[in-house]
Amino acid sequence: MRVHVIGGGLAGSEAAWQVVRQGIPVTLHEMRPQKMTPAHQTGNMAELVCSNSLKSMAEDSAPGLLKREMLALDSLIIKAGLEARVPAGQALAVNRELFSKAIRTALEASGLFTRVDEEVAAIPTVEELTEKNEVWIIATGPLTADQLAQNILELAGGAKRLHFYDAIAPVIDAESIDMSKGFMADRWQKGDDGGDYLNLPLNDREYNDFIDAVIASEKMPLHDFEDVKYFESCLPIEVMIERGRDTLRFGPMKPVGLTDPRTGRWPYANIQLRKENVDATMFSIVGFQTKMKWPEQSRVFKMIPGLETAEFLRFGSVHRNTYIKGPDALADNLSFKTNSRVFLAGQITGVEGYTESAAIGLLAGRHAAATLKGQRFANPPADTILGALAQYITVGPLGDYSPMNANFGLLPAIPKVRGQGKKDRQAEKVSRAWRSFESWVTP
Ligand SMILES: Cc1cc2nc3c(=O)[nH]c(=O)nc-3n(C[C@H](O)[C@H](O)[C@H](O)COP(=O)(O)OP(=O)(O)OC[C@H]3O[C@@H](n4cnc5c(N)ncnc54)[C@H](O)[C@@H]3O)c2cc1C
Repeated sequence: MRVHVIGGGLAGSEAAWQVVRQGIPVTLHEMRPQKMTPAHQTGNMAELVCSNSLKSMAEDSAPGLLKREMLALDSLIIKAGLEARVPAGQALAVNRELFSKAIRTALEASGLFTRVDEEVAAIPTVEELTEKNEVWIIATGPLTADQLAQNILELAGGAKRLHFYDAIAPVIDAESIDMSKGFMADRWQKGDDGGDYLNLPLNDREYNDFIDAVIASEKMPLHDFEDVKYFESCLPIEVMIERGRDTLRFGPMKPVGLTDPRTGRWPYANIQLRKENVDATMFSIVGFQTKMKWPEQSRVFKMIPGLETAEFLRFGSVHRNTYIKGPDALADNLSFKTNSRVFLAGQITGVEGYTESAAIGLLAGRHAAATLKGQRFANPPADTILGALAQYITVGPLGDYSPMNANFGLLPAIPKVRGQGKKDRQAEKVSRAWRSFESWVTP
């Protein structure tokens, strides 16, 4: 009985820990330092490639709640983060070297952990794995080496299910949108029975001010290794604007077929927002992938009538990021539908961020260990943050699948009660999540 983990990043390290603490030996295959990714610089376990922050620890925030749930499941990444913590207010910022060292030390102290410095190019078949009583966890991250990526593509069931770049549009908390400035309608909709899309109309001046602001905004620089070849169908809005000021009015801000009930006419330009979940607590701006810097996105998008007080649950981005279309490729225990002995973990499943990647590593480790022991591990309930992330990558959103971070919009809505504000409902989401988590841990 053995678990092989490919990738000693955030997810692979956490997955390995969750397996060894169940008494099962782990061989972890990590290609660094022999072969580096374009972003990593060391051979260290769980190297943080950019910021040294694992985001907030505040228990009334979604990242804080996620850490609390992970700690309750003995997360090595969060424990090591606390051990290597440096002062940064509410944020869990770490000394990178001490963080990596704490992870390696804990894994080695288990006596069940072996690290092999090698690149893995192919995965055994389900028959081979069954015969050896082994399972594999792939946790190779956003910069997965090319040969293995081809293998993952086959496991995922085809080219359409593996992406090498993400093109993410912003997601907004529904409660922060001024709905009185918009109208619900689908394009060319007949009658007045509402529609699925929230439309925010702009007049000539509003449109042109918005275009000027996008042009003048600061954009994220490309990394050296990012040679982005944009797909025509998901160009960043600023790239579209470079082709002409009116390009957006013929693209994602197209007004045709959208009659504003207040004027009886099509607006000059129109922005469509699509529900991201059944409860309609999150809306994404359709076709608005962008490389504007985050503070710029907040400033510029707030110029759109109806979004003046928008709260962004996820900002738009376009960057190099290998990830699969989780809901099509993965079973609810994070194994591939095409090979039940191979599990997927981390950012490559379609989550975004250090802690989120580790969180999915944690769940994959638990599922892998359970499989070898002939047991079943159930994901936490969907009203916990861990459970909501698992649900997102295995069931998916209503709209297009794109990488997601931990945020309150993923949790089921709390009914509105007179006299209670958004903060109260958020606090209720936190306490409901924790109650639910506790009854799941000790049923
Ligand atoms: C340039 C860049 C900057 C980022 N900045 C941030 C940030 O500031 N904050 C944040 O939260 N997130 C950031 N991210 C996202 C971040 O990468 C993930 O959040 C996190 O590192 C993903 O964890 P992971 O374990 O899934 O992948 P990784 O941590 O990348 O680990 C994957 C590991 O797999 C190894 N590997 C790959 N292929 C193979 C193979 N075939 N055989 C063996 N080993 C292999 C790699 O060497 C690597 O060690 C950034 C990503 C990039 C690319």
